[in-house]
Amino acid sequence: MASPEIPETLDTLRRVFGYDAFRDGQQEIIEHVVAGGDALVLMPTGGGKSLCYQIPALVRKGTGVVISPLIALMQDQVDAMRALGVRAGFLNSTQDLDERRVVEAQFVAGELDLLYLAPERLKLASTVELLDRGDVSLFAIDEAHCVSQWGHDFRPDYLMLSGLHERWPDVPRIALTATATEATRREIASRLHLEDARHFIASFDRPNIQYRIEPKTDPKRQLLRFLQTEHKGDAGIVYCLSRTSVEKHAAFLTENGIEALPYHAGLDAETRAANQARFLREDGLVMVATIAFGMGIDKPDVRFVAHLDLPKSVEGYYQETGRAGRDGLPSTAWLVYGLQDVVNLRKMIDGGEGDPAYRRRQTMHLDAMLALCETVECRRVQLLNYFGQSAEPCGNCDTCLTPPESWDATVPAQKVLSVIVRLERERRQKFGAGHIIDILLGKKNAKVIQFDHDSLKSFGVGTELREAEWRGVVRQLLAQGLVAVESNHGTLVQTEQSAAVLRGERRVMMRREPERPAPKAAKAAR
Ligand code: ADP
Ligand code: ZN
Repeated sequence: MASPEIPETLDTLRRVFGYDAFRDGQQEIIEHVVAGGDALVLMPTGGGKSLCYQIPALVRKGTGVVISPLIALMQDQVDAMRALGVRAGFLNSTQDLDERRVVEAQFVAGELDLLYLAPERLKLASTVELLDRGDVSLFAIDEAHCVSQWGHDFRPDYLMLSGLHERWPDVPRIALTATATEATRREIASRLHLEDARHFIASFDRPNIQYRIEPKTDPKRQLLRFLQTEHKGDAGIVYCLSRTSVEKHAAFLTENGIEALPYHAGLDAETRAANQARFLREDGLVMVATIAFGMGIDKPDVRFVAHLDLPKSVEGYYQETGRAGRDGLPSTAWLVYGLQDVVNLRKMIDGGEGDPAYRRRQTMHLDAMLALCETVECRRVQLLNYFGQSAEPCGNCDTCLTPPESWDATVPAQKVLSVIVRLERERRQKFGAGHIIDILLGKKNAKVIQFDHDSLKSFGVGTELREAEWRGVVRQLLAQGLVAVESNHGTLVQTEQSAAVLRGERRVMMRREPERPAPKAAKAAR
């Protein structure tokens, strides 16, 4: 490594933090900010973002103000800093007036190196006045993707941060995030007025993580087999979409001899804190959790992250799987998903908050996630491409190890689409995948008879495939944007691109699911 231009930075790294050397990228960023420059930093989880503002805050005169949405973690962060001898404090809504007054007085007296601030505090005139009374050395904006409406984790309070630059033009700002596509990065830069800042973009590759995505058939059994055959005694996280599913799967694992703890927002704060503490402290515990768990958790030896439900976005998937293998040792990111996931997520999007444009963006996030699931190419290449980075096939993900064959599914695709179109044109009706597949298979069940669907011309034209195979076809049609889930009943409709398939102008290739013995090969640590 080149000798530092500012020796104080390396000196601080060693003296305060006890590390020998900077990691890739850190030194450049730190020296740029120490010199008063603005920065936008993209670095994967575990890359070492915190030091990029902590060291400049220590080297520069005054207090570094850190804006973070992770209010629940502020106390821990401050405690960790104090343990290193750094003078740190925080201001957020969990404190009472007296506690706040103490911190404010310390800040004004110049007795703090770091002040953690919840973004909503900047709405208060009193906070702005407070900052004016002290000496701010830099603003660090953590989790900067929260300012992006285009991104997956928008927080309205972050929009306040656009005013920092006008109000304190001479104070350098460093914005940091672990997830941002090209479009999100541009939006962060424009909202925070960081167009002229230097952008530091680290590689998003996590070479020690093996990515695997399988169709969901019997999730409980699939999970149990995965844990028993590949991760016996390992610490890991199992993500579920709902609280009930968290409870159910934590109990199921425990019954089967795997020590598992639940974590979701419905548990009281004490239980949550206790479970989190145990997970961090003890070896080999499995945390079954909603995505409420994990932000800011720094446990190096998480050996696997399993998803029992489809994440809402590739950004979310990347962030959650990124919690595996921070120590650089081989780890697994394992996901099962099925048609019902798509229906459920659509339901959440349609029933959720936000204007139509917001829902459209969420739909696009979901589509990108589906495309990752159904790709026949290297998962890592897809993932990195999504974040605007190129890569070579990794040789370690499921599609590299067991390349899925593709097959010409044009005729089955046409059959599905023709049922959808006929129902809509001839009957003014829409149905979900299950019923459409029943029609294709020629099942005379109660619903089919009730709607007189056995008289449709398409009734029974799809007996060449089994029901599970038809489900796979519909899933992949969804992933390719050739059908869409329309409402929260899960009804299927055609898309703009369907017509070309029906007219025979477009061929549809699909991945054939390989028989899967669990891929064993895992690459050496980095
Ligand atoms: P991020 O915020 O990017 O997810 P952190 O800042 O929490 O990552 O850093 C992840 C871990 O790496 C922490 O335990 C941190 O102390 C450690 N770390 C960071 N920089 C260095 C370094 N230069 N040498 C050794 N360990 C480091
Ligand atoms: Zn690969």
